[in-house]
Formats: sequence, C-alpha cells, structure tokens
Amino acid sequence: MTYHYDPTNIFARILRGEIPNKTVLETPHSLAFHDINPAAPVHVLVIPKGAYVTFDHFAAEASAEELVDFHRACAQVCAMVGVAPGDGSTGKGYRAITNAGAHGMQEVPHYHLHILGGRAMGPLVLK
Ligand code: AMP
Repeated sequence: MTYHYDPTNIFARILRGEIPNKTVLETPHSLAFHDINPAAPVHVLVIPKGAYVTFDHFAAEASAEELVDFHRACAQVCAMVGVAPGDGSTGKGYRAITNAGAHGMQEVPHYHLHILGGRAMGPLVLK
C-alpha cells in the first residue's frame, strides 16, 4: 500500500511551529492539543509527529516506539482531562474516533484521534 502524505496540511504546520495550538501533552513522538472547534466539552486531538495520513497508515508503517508512544500519550490525555473511567478515576468516559478518507469524512490528512467527553456522546453514527 502506498500512502501519499501532504506536508502542507494544517497539523503538519502545527508540528513545524508555523501555527499555534493549545497543547495538552507533548511526548517524543506525539502531540495532543485542544480541537479548535470542539464538538463536546472535552475535545482533544492526539497526533503522531511522523508523517502518517490515516489510522491504517500509522498502524501499518509506524515503528514500535511510535506506536507505543502514541497510545501511552492517549492514555495520559484521558487521565489528564478527567475522562478515563478506570478504577479510582472520577472520569465518566469518552469516545475515541478517527476519520479516514472520503467516506470517513476526514478533513485533515494527518492521522489524528479525537478524544471526546464531558457529556454522553449519543449514538455511534447517523443511520
Ligand atoms: P477530521 O474531520 O477527523 O479530519 O477532523 C479534523 C479536526 O481538526 C476538526 O475537528 C477541526 O475542528 C480540527 N482542527 C482544524 N484545524 C485545527 C487547528 N488549527 N487547531 C486545532 N484543531 C483544528
């Protein structure tokens, strides 16, 4: 599978420091920041620093180090923003979503995981 990454996308520009972001967490291989147009009281985007277009691209081609770093960053973000529903946490849960390609209605072609919470999220998708 060949993936084409467009380095002019807005998240690539955020990673290069060309435009600002409201950072929640930065790790060696990942960045988490608040969505500019939040769809819920909590809406954080977690992105890898590497040039990956979609979830499947990242899952197929990222190094083990990048994969672990990204998922640990997601876990840290869930805890930091108070949505993790695990033992001992007051968090009430969250929804993690990633959109890919045209049918996924992906707007920004740099892989990102939306972490949404702070209210009940409703049905999974429109039918
Ligand atoms: P998607 O449709 O899954 O590609 O989602 C793209 C998300 O990026 C949307 O929720 C946008 O609100 C968000 N977004 C776009 N530009 C920025 C930005 N400069 N800073 C933070 N979030 C952004």
